[in-house]
Amino acid sequence: MSALQSIQEPRLQSGQYILQQIWCTARQLYNQGTIATLQWVPAHEGIVGNEMAHSCAQMATKRKAKLAGDEGPRLKSRALQIGREWIRAEKTRRFDQLQVGKFTRTIDKALPREHMTLVYNALHREEAKILSQLRTGHTPLNDNLARIGAEQSANCVCRMGVESVQHFLFYCPKWRNERTKLREAMADRWGDLAYALGGWSGRRDRRNSRFVDGPREKWKPNLKIIKATIQFVIKTKRFQPKATIAKYTEGIEARAIEDTRVSGEMVVSDDESVGSSL
Ligand SMILES: [Zn+2]
Repeated sequence: MSALQSIQEPRLQSGQYILQQIWCTARQLYNQGTIATLQWVPAHEGIVGNEMAHSCAQMATKRKAKLAGDEGPRLKSRALQIGREWIRAEKTRRFDQLQVGKFTRTIDKALPREHMTLVYNALHREEAKILSQLRTGHTPLNDNLARIGAEQSANCVCRMGVESVQHFLFYCPKWRNERTKLREAMADRWGDLAYALGGWSGRRDRRNSRFVDGPREKWKPNLKIIKATIQFVIKTKRFQPKATIAKYTEGIEARAIEDTRVSGEMVVSDDESVGSSL
C-alpha cells in the first residue's frame, strides 16, 4: 500500500528514480491514449502479474543479479551523484561545442573554469595577467600584433619564423639563456604548450593510447610548471609592452583577469574582444 501512496504523493524518499520511471511510463501511455490505473492486489493469491513481479523481485535480490537496462538500484545519494556527473558531462559537451575562445581550447580541452580558478587564485596579479595573455593568445608577440594590425609582420626579430606563443616559449634563439629553468622543469614534456600553460591537452600516448594528461575529469594543472613558464616570460621582459600596445592589451587583460577570478577563464571570441577594446 505504501508504494501506491509514494507514487501518488512522491516525497523525497529514497528510490526516486523508480517513481520517476513509473510517472514517465504513465505519461507516455497517457499520451498514446491509454489511461493507467494503479490497483492494489493481495500477494501470493495466484494473480498472474503479481506472481511475475514477485519472482522478478526475488531474482533481483540474488547475488550477481543482472539488472534490466543500466539502471541499478540507487539510493538517494547515488542518484544525486549520477545527476552531478550528468551535469558535468553536459557542461563539458557544451564547452566542446563552443565556437568561441578557440585559442584557449587548442591548449586546454578541459573545462578551464573549474581548474583555472584555483590556479589564478594562487598567482599574483602580474603572474595571472601573463598566464591569461598566454592562454588566450592576446599577447604583445608579433603574431598577435600583426593580427590586430598593430604590427606589419608576424615574424620574430630572430628571423626564424612567426613570433607565436610556442616560438617565444620554446624555440626562439633570442631567449635561450632565459629559458634554462623552464626547460629543466618541463623535462621530457618540453615543447608541450598545454602542459606549460596548465591545460589538459587531450593527446593520447601512442604506445598505450591513454591520455598523456590522464582522464579529463581528474585533471589538475601543474602549478610548478605554470609558474616556471611565467617566470620565463618575466625574465625576457618581452611582455612589458610599449605605450601603444599597452593601450590595446590593458583593457583585455583587465577583463580577462576579472573573468578568471570570477569564473576561471576568459572564453570570448577573438574578434569581439579585440573590437570592443580598441
Ligand atoms: Zn624568434
